[in-house]
Amino acid sequence: MPAKQTSSQSPSAKKNHRPPTYANYINGEWAPSKSGETFANHNPADTRDIVGYFPRSAAEDIDAAVAAAAEAYPKWRLVPAPKRAEYIFRVGEILIRDKEAISRDMTREMGKTLKETRGDTQEAIDMAYFVAGEGRRLYGQTTTSELADKFAMSVRDPIGVCGLITPWNFPIAIPSWKIFPAILCGNTVVIKPAEDTPLSVYRFVKAFEEAGLPPGVVNMVTGYGETAGAPLVVHPTIRLVSFTGSTQVGRIIAMQAADKGKKCSLEMGGKNAILVMEDANLELAVEGAIWGAFGTAGQRCTAASRLIVHKKVIKKFTQMLVERAKGLRLGNGLDAATDVGPVVNQEQLERVLGYIEIGRSRDKAKLLCGGERVADGDLAHGYFIAPTVFGDVAPNATIAQEEIFGPVTAIIPCQDFEDAMRIANGVGYGLSASIYTGDVNRAFRAMRDIEAGICYVNAPTIGAEVHLPFGGVKGTGNGHREGGLQAFDIFSEWKTLYVDFSGRLQKAQIAD
Ligand code: NAD
Repeated sequence: MPAKQTSSQSPSAKKNHRPPTYANYINGEWAPSKSGETFANHNPADTRDIVGYFPRSAAEDIDAAVAAAAEAYPKWRLVPAPKRAEYIFRVGEILIRDKEAISRDMTREMGKTLKETRGDTQEAIDMAYFVAGEGRRLYGQTTTSELADKFAMSVRDPIGVCGLITPWNFPIAIPSWKIFPAILCGNTVVIKPAEDTPLSVYRFVKAFEEAGLPPGVVNMVTGYGETAGAPLVVHPTIRLVSFTGSTQVGRIIAMQAADKGKKCSLEMGGKNAILVMEDANLELAVEGAIWGAFGTAGQRCTAASRLIVHKKVIKKFTQMLVERAKGLRLGNGLDAATDVGPVVNQEQLERVLGYIEIGRSRDKAKLLCGGERVADGDLAHGYFIAPTVFGDVAPNATIAQEEIFGPVTAIIPCQDFEDAMRIANGVGYGLSASIYTGDVNRAFRAMRDIEAGICYVNAPTIGAEVHLPFGGVKGTGNGHREGGLQAFDIFSEWKTLYVDFSGRLQKAQIAD
């Protein structure tokens, strides 16, 4: 039976209700973990509010889900892609119908503002329409053969059972980047969502169930990384692992996948920079920096955690930025007046505060605003950190090199454009970058020379659209791209086909 529906009531309204207990989705059925164990999912804006209990799954649950996916695969791979796409269109329509409820639940379980969770759900809707449209394309190539009376073409083949592991910061958008292209290509999947956002993925999977997707094509198993994620990665039936999360975990997964000869796509951390040149529109640059640094409380892989600013405008830019940052309102993301929500959990709170301390003491950066936990009044039971700006940060400082993943940004002075580019490229990551300038020549040089998978001109580091490739270089990725047509290269293998209709043995490359 499906687990109980959830609601987005306030904690006080829920005082007398026991939070619902949810289930795994395996072979079209809802079931608890085999051990019966669960874990609690807390609202980071008010930890007294338990969103629900979710199965604390282990290898045996992964085994059951992978078996279901393997059983469904031979039939699903033979369903024509346009028919597979029809299920995806239906899921898109269900998400449109339920967008508000899904988004409210998402804010409640991971904290970002309702405006942003609506954007997250919308991204999955966009992805549904984009991917489903490809069901009638999914083009291969035909080409000429070097031999007479011979036909040559290449087509996409599915891979098999895919293991999908996702983070909590885009609870529906990221699963949609993986599940939709995977099943459109004819694969079946098992998804292990982040332990902080199982409810959003539960709601997403419910949409597949309602759309009538055959049992076993999409399976969901909730639980922790080491006990539920790791068995999925090493399971012998899993042919492809698609992971989004930290670089640290991604590297472990890459090694395990390599050891077992599996295909593996990784989307990992970032240390993204906005370059502000002396000819930039400063109002626009400040607005972009505020959104880039503090949107989703800085918990985006594309967050602008470095602001590299030309010495001629740094004073003015800093003053304008700090004034805006101080005016941002912290609060529960369900409150329309909130600009910045909480960070996702206690561990993240401690990690971010730890980096702020390093910025102050070891890096000797100038703390210009924020720098502390806020726990007054309504915020007493949440994980709130004041939007934090450091000034005079050295390019090699820890806070300018490591991913913080919180509402913290570092202003780094630069001498000129060349210096700015050197600083921007001087990190171990390469996801997103942006330049604010009025000079078209510089803009093109930045686009050419920046070491990143994504580059914006006169716009912040965040704002990806689903029909363009998304991903990064260096420590951010391993050569794959999600989104865009490139996503299909992750979830399919090229098969090359030759048809010789000459009626005789013809030999390529061999002269008779
Ligand atoms: P995380 O690496 O801690 O966890 C990600 C997922 O991996 C979770 O589902 C977790 O349970 C699972 N996991 C953890 N250990 C595992 C293991 N040993 N084996 C298998 N699975 C395991 O990351 P997070 O804290 O959820 O997310 C934040 C990170 O994700 C940041 O570094 C951020 O930059 C990155 N991220 C990257 C992108 C991108 O597209 N490049 C997008 C969003 C987030």
